[in-house]
Amino acid sequence: MTLRLYDTRTREKRAFAPLGEGPVGMYVCGVTPYDTGHLGHAFTYVSFDVLHRYLEYLGHAVRYVQNLTDVDDDLLRRARELGEDYLALGNRHVTAFLTEMAALNWLPPDVYPRATRHIPQMQAMVARLLEGGCAYQADGHVYFSVDAWPTYGELSGLPREAMLPIANERGNVPDMRGKRDPLDFVLWQPSGPDEPSWPSPWGPGRPGWHIECSAMSTAYLGPRFEIHGGGADLAFPHHESEIAQSEGASGERPFVAWWMHAGMLGFDGEKMSKSLGNLVLVRDLLASYPGDAIRHFLVSHHYRAEIDFHESDMEASLVAAGRLRQAARLAEELEPLAPAMADPGSLHPVVAGHRARFLAAMDDDLDTPAALPELHALAARAIETDEPRLRVEAGWMVRELGARILGLRLATVPASREPAPPDAAVRA
Ligand SMILES: [Zn+2]
Repeated sequence: MTLRLYDTRTREKRAFAPLGEGPVGMYVCGVTPYDTGHLGHAFTYVSFDVLHRYLEYLGHAVRYVQNLTDVDDDLLRRARELGEDYLALGNRHVTAFLTEMAALNWLPPDVYPRATRHIPQMQAMVARLLEGGCAYQADGHVYFSVDAWPTYGELSGLPREAMLPIANERGNVPDMRGKRDPLDFVLWQPSGPDEPSWPSPWGPGRPGWHIECSAMSTAYLGPRFEIHGGGADLAFPHHESEIAQSEGASGERPFVAWWMHAGMLGFDGEKMSKSLGNLVLVRDLLASYPGDAIRHFLVSHHYRAEIDFHESDMEASLVAAGRLRQAARLAEELEPLAPAMADPGSLHPVVAGHRARFLAAMDDDLDTPAALPELHALAARAIETDEPRLRVEAGWMVRELGARILGLRLATVPASREPAPPDAAVRA
């Protein structure tokens, strides 16, 4: 079996293979740390955590980079509203985010770059785009010229006329000073009077949002790498613009081999959003449910699905995660009988069958909703059988697949790794 992953750009599932000898490069757009994390964020990061774990399970070395957008319009606006220093505001929310993700047993990234520490890399990329004719200066701003990039739209598949309204909803200011086209996007801009500012060849200012991720991903993973992910609402214009910038600056394409997007979360049939006041906060859920129950709820949905949150599903996941833990514990009690799990050929045929179907589901674009019933079937065997060998093997397999791949703690497995400190990138 081969892992096949869906690529948003080519709109197909393709067999996964690393591009070269080195580790698999994986970049996931991180949080803009100005607000409390909601379950939609957790769905994205848990989904990519399962991918991270599965790639490692399959024997790939992975270099996982997840950025922090610690200078950005939204963050600066919030800092102004609160009268708080933007870096202090960011640090507060980064700490909360890491604490919540640790409770969800998330493997932290290898590199955790902060935008504010990568201004020189962003400026170097802007300079290359200007030299190459993809960008222009106007009144202290530098804009990317969408007209200079004929394949703009290849990722989202959006026709040109549909792009502007969506871009405007997601941070674009169409009538910004000196723009030749309302869709042209900011690479560099003058800072407001109370905003941070860095010197640059184009005047003092700060970077645009999209260039941050192009510069940080390229800095740690090179001009071409395997996987770039994020929530589905980032595909346009954020990731579309990243492609144009990164390929425009490096001259190499494709920038990313697999673009992967996690589905959005709804609440009782409505879009989950701050304006509707129906955000399900991770912090609140963690006060009522253990991390395993939340993770079980999340992986019971396919990562690309639009999911709808109902409290009753959380209750069901609480019971289901408890049953998996019970099965894993049974096996632990019988540990002296544990088989050499490294040799699937010697497994009890019933266990081997469930394992094979679990892995086949994972290979099919991480179909966790199809994999999960196999795990529960193994748990049922472990709990119900009178046969010691079947009990111990089934219980062990629940732990092997449930903990290593789906990232459930099952309470018998020590926490894998502690979260990296937020400034780990400085040492990278
Ligand atoms: Zn990004």
